[in-house]
Amino acid sequence: MSWEAVIGIEVHVQLRTARKLFCGDAVEFGSAPNVHVCPVCLGLPGALPAINPEAVALAVRTGLALGCTVYEESVWSRKNYFYPDLPKGYQITQYDRPLGTDGVVAFDTATGDASVRIRRVHMEEDAGKLLHDRVPHATVVDLNRAGTPLVEIVTEPDLRSPEDARAFLGALKQTLEYVSVSDCNMEEGSLRADANISMRPVGAKTLGVKTEIKNVNSFSGIERALHIEIARQTEILDGGGVIEQQTLLWDDHRNEVRPMRSKEGRHDYRYFPEPDLPPLRVTRESIEQARSELPELPRPRRARFQAVFGLTLYDADVLTQSAATADYFEAVTERLGDAKLASNWVMGPLRALLNHRGVDIASCPVLPAALSDLIGLVRDGTVSDSSAKKVLGILADEGGEPADIIEARGFVQVRDDAQLSRWVEEVIEAHPEEAERLRRGETQIGGFLVGQVMRRSRGQADPKKVNELLLGWLAP
Ligand code: ADP
Ligand code: MG
Repeated sequence: MSWEAVIGIEVHVQLRTARKLFCGDAVEFGSAPNVHVCPVCLGLPGALPAINPEAVALAVRTGLALGCTVYEESVWSRKNYFYPDLPKGYQITQYDRPLGTDGVVAFDTATGDASVRIRRVHMEEDAGKLLHDRVPHATVVDLNRAGTPLVEIVTEPDLRSPEDARAFLGALKQTLEYVSVSDCNMEEGSLRADANISMRPVGAKTLGVKTEIKNVNSFSGIERALHIEIARQTEILDGGGVIEQQTLLWDDHRNEVRPMRSKEGRHDYRYFPEPDLPPLRVTRESIEQARSELPELPRPRRARFQAVFGLTLYDADVLTQSAATADYFEAVTERLGDAKLASNWVMGPLRALLNHRGVDIASCPVLPAALSDLIGLVRDGTVSDSSAKKVLGILADEGGEPADIIEARGFVQVRDDAQLSRWVEEVIEAHPEEAERLRRGETQIGGFLVGQVMRRSRGQADPKKVNELLLGWLAP
């Protein structure tokens, strides 16, 4: 029998707020343990939660960005369970009436466009953290994270391969970053994915028994974990066995999944409406206001870059990976009036510079106007391509105007025939053998001779003119 994988993903995203969901404590990664706590997030008797409107606004924005219907009224519920990182003994979440439902996320696969339906988007609070390596032979609790605002995003079981699951997660993260609802930092746990997976005979319509893999916090992790779980389930099914519904823990270092607990049924949590909070109300106007304030999303932006600027899908895709890159590119293009040149420079020398320095384009030390002016000076022949790359480095280090730097540092390209001819003559004299080979038609040696002239000119000669002169010189 051949099996088909069926995958649904649940993603927890930390909202980019300054304060917790139900109290005024700071949300801050990496502080000393247990400094951002108060009676509310510690669950002390008598402490009452109060909603942080900033978190609600970000959750509404998230729902809208994912194409969900966002409701004017949703309901807080208690999800009861015991765990040492949950001092209240319950998590405040949303259950039967979530903030939003019925969205969709599109993504690219090797074989074309695909999409996943989003079943629901709801708000909830995060738990604290157990630290296993802080104190020898003990596990200790850090409650700084307790009460941090989250949205949980739940997909329908629409995915069919680990590669698609990864691609979906990439597209989701990109969208969340575009709308600035989360920093989506997977290492710091701002975006965590649980993968639900079952197998069924190819062609079957009903779903098989699923397992849920928790603790996946990287793109490659989700792909690897799913491959391993598909192999495990397939082996059991091929052997005539049945899959046990359970929760598995992903161990990224060992590249393995292991059983965490047999899965609780829904009833084990004893969900009931949260008595300390009224239903969450968001006005229709504020939802529509939020919708109108959504920025252009990644895919429409990519399509526009192709249509308006005539870029290839590949170029448009690279340039829309982040909103910051797309904004930068658009700013350069607008000033320069040449999208193709702008894209070459942003994707080429600028990206190389940023990678080399480990700087994000959002904090690029060279402003779009400066890069645009520099490219303009290459275009009109004032400076050579190779010198311009040096100027770019100087701009990054020292700032300033490209034209001034080119002038002051002697980067102005030499295009004067007399000077260029002198260099060409010198090079031919120094390399008679190569010159003779070029004369006999070995055109590939031309590059070497042009290179020699460039060297002699310390990079300032106009290579195109040098090439012309060289060929003219050697022509019979
Ligand atoms: P649970 O109650 O275990 O959390 P849900 O029905 O709420 O299960 O679904 C949780 C996630 O699991 C969703 O993303 C859903 O698409 C996915 N899912 C549900 N059933 C299956 C299945 N049989 N195989 C794969 N994924 C599934
Ligand atoms: Mg679940």
